[in-house]
Amino acid sequence: MRTQDKVCEVCGKRLAIHKCRICGRNVCEKHFNKRKGVCSVCSDLMCQVCGEKLSVDACIVCGRLICRSCSVELQPGIRVCTPCYENLPEVLSERPELSYLLRYIRKRH
Ligand SMILES: [Zn+2]
Ligand SMILES: [Zn+2]
Ligand SMILES: [Zn+2]
Ligand SMILES: [Zn+2]
Repeated sequence: MRTQDKVCEVCGKRLAIHKCRICGRNVCEKHFNKRKGVCSVCSDLMCQVCGEKLSVDACIVCGRLICRSCSVELQPGIRVCTPCYENLPEVLSERPELSYLLRYIRKRH
């Protein structure tokens, strides 16, 4: 192997022929998601709502990974995805243990 040849930073075995647009890792064919232009590591951490951005947190209600633009921060450290937020009263009627979240959306003056 020539010195300028890079090895995939995920598996450490195959030749890296792609570069992840998010983390900049050099990865092989197998560890690259062509459609998204990201490596398999970032792809696992992508927002599960838009599938475009890296997630920052998980929705406290449905557990999906969410990015900043697809979520609403109800309280520091408490985030819900936009789809859940839009139907929050309904969604929470099925999740009584999370009903305390309701008080965070009703207080808009
Ligand atoms: Zn690889
Ligand atoms: Zn990456
Ligand atoms: Zn998103
Ligand atoms: Zn959600």
